[in-house]
Amino acid sequence: MVIVMSSHATEADVTVITQHVESLGLQAHPIIGVERIVIGVIGDERLIQKDQLSLLPHVETVIPILKPYKLASREFKPNDSVIDVAGVRVGGKEIVTIAGPCSVETEEQLLATATAVKQAGAKLLRGGAYKPRTSPYAFQGLGEDGLKLLMKAKEQTGLGIVTEVMETADVELVAEYADLLQVGARNMQNTRLLRSLGKVKKPILLKRNFSATLNEFLMSAEYILSAGNNNVILCERGIRTFVEYTRNTLDLNVIPAVKQLSHLPIIVDPSHGTGRHDFVLPLSRAAIAAGADGLIIEVHPDPAKAFSDGEQSLTLEAFQSLMNEVSVISKAMGRQ
Ligand code: PEP
Ligand code: MN
Repeated sequence: MVIVMSSHATEADVTVITQHVESLGLQAHPIIGVERIVIGVIGDERLIQKDQLSLLPHVETVIPILKPYKLASREFKPNDSVIDVAGVRVGGKEIVTIAGPCSVETEEQLLATATAVKQAGAKLLRGGAYKPRTSPYAFQGLGEDGLKLLMKAKEQTGLGIVTEVMETADVELVAEYADLLQVGARNMQNTRLLRSLGKVKKPILLKRNFSATLNEFLMSAEYILSAGNNNVILCERGIRTFVEYTRNTLDLNVIPAVKQLSHLPIIVDPSHGTGRHDFVLPLSRAAIAAGADGLIIEVHPDPAKAFSDGEQSLTLEAFQSLMNEVSVISKAMGRQ
């Protein structure tokens, strides 16, 4: 449930309420808004009497949250969340583009890509150092050496780093390098990983699993939020359907659905969503038109030689022209 404090309630009044809630064995998550303070109450609500809570000082109303996800729901937080990633705000007026190679391969490859995507207007650099590959014989990523190369690219370009963390044991290390830690589609329901990311002081990019319902997707976000990390960005990256002409089917329906049900920002990955470099531009346009807060796009200086996902990677030139094209759509949508 959500406790809405009266407009003149102070932070000290809020502390009284949170202590009361915690003494009942429940968790309290205060959110300090511009106009009001609300407190999300999470746990077994049978332990608490709604009517009793309404009588506490400076409590205006107590509203039950009917959705199974609480902290991720718009019922809990009506205003859009804007997530700060190394000074880049995701979920506000600006459409944020994250770009870079699928895998970090060499210093030369990464720096060439980073410089070009920055010049084209990307705000964050992506690159996988730990790669979840279908085949155990395929390139698995450079590991910590890859993270070091990402750091070098950050020093040279100023771009914040987005990179995947695959297991709980790696969280601390990856969090030292990354500005935004990516949970890949395959790990969306790795609940121990999600919980450990709740303890990290960096924002999380949560990719939707290719067979996850919207409810499951938001419940995974709830794992991170309820473990203490409020900074979650959702990412639609395509789901499995019967179509065989694309790698996945990009579920753009999920964008307005997330906007209705949740306050969290959502970005779109048209690279994995289509698996085809020639479809990345049209689906980027569509994603922004549907209300996405940003894009994450695979770019490689020589896609034919990429260690992974070359067929869906844009050349540096194609990425530049994509940025020009999508800026037109962004403006038409009243965004920047
Ligand atoms: C990736 O971003 O390179 C990746 C592996 O994505 P996903 O987890 O969506 O397949
Ligand atoms: Mn990839």
